[in-house]
Amino acid sequence: MRIDLMEFLPVTLQRKETFTIARGSSAISEAIFLAVHSGKRTGHGVAVPTNVTRENVHSVLNTLQGFARTFGGVEFEKPFQLQERMDKLAANQPSARAAVEMALFDLSAQAAGMPLYAYLGGRRDRMLTDMTVGIMDTDAAVDRARRWAGVGFRALKIKVGRDWKADVKRVKAIRDAVGKDIELRVDGNQGFSWSDALSFARNARNEGVAFFEQPVSVDDWEGMRALTESSPIPIMADEMVLTPDDVKKLRWSNAARAVNMKLMKHGGILRSMEVNTLCEAAGYPTMVGCMGEPQLSVAAGLHFALAQKNVHWLDLDSHFKFSSDPTSGLRFDKGELVAPSKPGLGIDVKFPT
Ligand SMILES: [Mg+2]
Repeated sequence: MRIDLMEFLPVTLQRKETFTIARGSSAISEAIFLAVHSGKRTGHGVAVPTNVTRENVHSVLNTLQGFARTFGGVEFEKPFQLQERMDKLAANQPSARAAVEMALFDLSAQAAGMPLYAYLGGRRDRMLTDMTVGIMDTDAAVDRARRWAGVGFRALKIKVGRDWKADVKRVKAIRDAVGKDIELRVDGNQGFSWSDALSFARNARNEGVAFFEQPVSVDDWEGMRALTESSPIPIMADEMVLTPDDVKKLRWSNAARAVNMKLMKHGGILRSMEVNTLCEAAGYPTMVGCMGEPQLSVAAGLHFALAQKNVHWLDLDSHFKFSSDPTSGLRFDKGELVAPSKPGLGIDVKFPT
């Protein structure tokens, strides 16, 4: 296959309601959509840069401009042939690399006539996802939790990390409202001190919480280790794991029991496979999550997850929360996200004219 042309376009995605986590609030998400044209086919990708990946819209646009110059006219059979060159050109721009690689995988799987999850070796086509409830007062959170459970979600992720006593109260109220059959997960987004995180976990221990994501700062390896050893709710690392080396460090430090993976953090599907393989070897089950992403890259995350047996959980919910998304094609059925059966990513991309 030949890369004839790369085009990209930054788009601001509007959320239906402001989303609040321990480290801040946001009503929008910035996405840079990418199209890679090859003969009669077009592969699509998208980058969603955030402070977690230490990128922004400008750095991603610069990186994509460089990629467009370098890769115009280049022939490839499989995406891994371009991966090392992208790593060298833009080591610190993982979401930009993820966008290009996603489009290359879309093209390759289209050429093979298979949906991407099958092209990657996956056999299942759907998986349970959670829905996230942001930080808000208890009544509002209970209302959201009831509403999401009412439309079929069987797992909810509750954002915590600002005030552990209020967080315990909110988690208990949601458990009482939705009953025992809904799985609850919590995410501290680095907001707690390790001692407050431990107080939260000890007081929420009877609420059946599956895991506790990134309670403390990415720099606090000692806090993560202490919590991994003492918290009655298993600790999951998120923001502190970007590269395969981060997983090795996590294992040597005994600083978590599970890892939340995101294509945007690791730089695409191939690097995510490396991260997941190291996690599996370390005995860490993984989750595949997302930033504030549209259906296009949520689908890429889903295809990846479907092909990896070490992926135990999905947190692919951001696309439900936008008032407009130029991409579509994912189905939600009784709590599960269903991959399109069309070749490639299987996602339609239509920008308003
Ligand atoms: Mg998280």
